Amino acid sequence: MINEKIFLCSICNINSGTCNEDCKFCSQSVRYKADIERYKQKPLDAILQEAKEARAHGALGFCLVTADKGITEKSLKFVCDVAQAVSKEVPELRLIACNGTATLEQLLILKESGIKAYNHNLETSKDFYSKICTTHPWQERYETCQNVNKAGLVLISGGIFGLGETQEDRVSMLESLRSLNPTSVPINFYHHNEALELEPNPLTTDEALELIKLTRETIPHAQRIMVAGGRELMFGERQNEIFAYGANSIVIGNYLTTNGRVMSKDLEMLKSLNLEVAKKV
Ligand code: SF4
Repeated sequence: MINEKIFLCSICNINSGTCNEDCKFCSQSVRYKADIERYKQKPLDAILQEAKEARAHGALGFCLVTADKGITEKSLKFVCDVAQAVSKEVPELRLIACNGTATLEQLLILKESGIKAYNHNLETSKDFYSKICTTHPWQERYETCQNVNKAGLVLISGGIFGLGETQEDRVSMLESLRSLNPTSVPINFYHHNEALELEPNPLTTDEALELIKLTRETIPHAQRIMVAGGRELMFGERQNEIFAYGANSIVIGNYLTTNGRVMSKDLEMLKSLNLEVAKKV
């Protein structure tokens, strides 16, 4: 692990807080009235600015996220337009889309517009899923991941820990992920928002580190285990330990509705660990 280069990714919420689904961990659902910024389409100038900043700090991945259950005709066009504009201005970035459930046809259209990878998380185990979401089934998530593979896009799929799931649920989710053969596995740690009815994340830092290790061990063929949302809150001063437990990728900058730390701090952390930033995929 210590010789591995660390892949940096940045996420851009190009449509925020407008989702009608009821995922209990998500402040972007309109149902919970969380105090977050909500907008239909982020202005292209702002997106390009974020893309340039991410690249300037070493990011290779740039993920275009829309808050909705799945792709609509309108959001598909918006994502394609944004992808083309970002590819033109910052061609070194590898573009990822994260737009919810998607058909094979929709994914092929994204691919044509320059999207290289698609992120769709299973979130949790098949059995626990109905406890955290009642408006769409887990199976639909799994099928979208299968569609991503069929479309020949790179599959990025992971989940979120700390929702009240059992250890069996965690193992089950990781086994389901393994069956999809994802290239990258983003793992998130629930970041509580008081507008949400879920209990705060009960995991200790040691338990969370062990979950990174378990992810790596269960999905050994994944090229990247990425620590994504909740990193600062979950690991605090011990963020530098995540790499020794199997992480080789992180999200830098802000998350969808919460702030990350300034990007330069992460670069300093990697330098202090003698870890190099990956310069190619
Ligand atoms: S479908 Fe996605 S955006 Fe909508 S509430 Fe669930 S996690 Fe949030």
